[in-house]
Amino acid sequence: MFGLIGHSTSFADARLLAKRLGYDEYAEGDLDMWCSAPPQLLERVRVTSPTGTTIEGAYIDSCFVPEMLSRFKTARRKVLNAMELAQKNDIQITALGGFTSIIFENFNLLKEQQIRSTTLDWQRFTTGNTHTAWVICRQVEQNAPRLGIDLAKARVAVVGATGDIGSAVCRWLKERTGIAELLLVARQAQPLIELQSELGCGRILSLEEALPQADVVVWVASLPQTLSIDTASLQRPCLMIDGGYPKNLDSKAAAEGVHVIKGGIVEFGSDIGWQMMAVADMAKPQRQMFACFAEAMLLEFEGIHSNFSWGRNNINLAKMDLIGAASLRHGFQALGLETELQPATNLAVA
Ligand code: NDP
Repeated sequence: MFGLIGHSTSFADARLLAKRLGYDEYAEGDLDMWCSAPPQLLERVRVTSPTGTTIEGAYIDSCFVPEMLSRFKTARRKVLNAMELAQKNDIQITALGGFTSIIFENFNLLKEQQIRSTTLDWQRFTTGNTHTAWVICRQVEQNAPRLGIDLAKARVAVVGATGDIGSAVCRWLKERTGIAELLLVARQAQPLIELQSELGCGRILSLEEALPQADVVVWVASLPQTLSIDTASLQRPCLMIDGGYPKNLDSKAAAEGVHVIKGGIVEFGSDIGWQMMAVADMAKPQRQMFACFAEAMLLEFEGIHSNFSWGRNNINLAKMDLIGAASLRHGFQALGLETELQPATNLAVA
């Protein structure tokens, strides 16, 4: 069985979901009440791959909301309790979605293996970052040519280059895609220098320096709400893959010739019959999902019950190849320009 640990995109959305699902006490509860609420296993599903394999899974809402990010102890407890619930339900492989994998890593929850009487078995969990990185690279490779961007001549900026997903994207773009130049963006200098040395290429730039030079921008950092982009200075055309969480670039970078795709999102070939993706604000919640969630499904389809994506900066190209091949075999497609551009609203002139 696969599991997905997620959360609502805001406290207001979480209360709406609770109301819809009949959890009246939660729907009316304040943030303090939510802070002490236990995780809930909200839904069980069965999914059949085009190969004919059927798997079963469950969605666990951690009852975390982004408004709790500043409350360290609460955020930590929410993630660990949700993991304990997954393990107690004997789920073999569970993806940590949304902010939960970031909280796990940044708060160093590896030290917190004992939750009451449960010793968490790390082999049962995955961040899903290998599939996310592979999907983002595919979004670059498939969509840049559609805009007339020749990747062999293109500059690609990776914002969040030193992160788990960002560093994997950089390795792939360098080795597999064959782009003209990588522009490496993050805040801390030392990890950037180490990444540049590992890659043997890439120019380290500030965000302000990189954006006007980039034909493609891969965003794999959680960006402050206050970030503003000088759209007039961007290349035309410019492809932006919005891979961070939350996905808020389409409004910040709305300008003619600037094309924003929701990054790290995949679409399954048929409706799954679940409710859970409605909370994640997907355009087609019956078949679209975060690539990290899809990784848990892929691992279950393939019978790989191990923490496939774990720790930081461990993603290699062989693992990306493996999960990418599984993704195609089991009927997942990366979101692309066709889906994003049809309403034409993304192209509004700034
Ligand atoms: P990491 O914490 O490993 O990496 C974050 C990276 O972003 C680092 O390079 C960090 O470097 C950089 N960064 C953070 N803030 C800024 C900033 N203000 N400006 C520039 N760089 C910044 O995270 P992951 O690689 O695990 O995840 C990256 C993003 O992808 C997250 O937003 C995560 O939520 C999202 N994600 C999306 C998924 C999906 O949509 N399917 C699935 C999984 C994750 P430094 O601190 O030096 O700035």
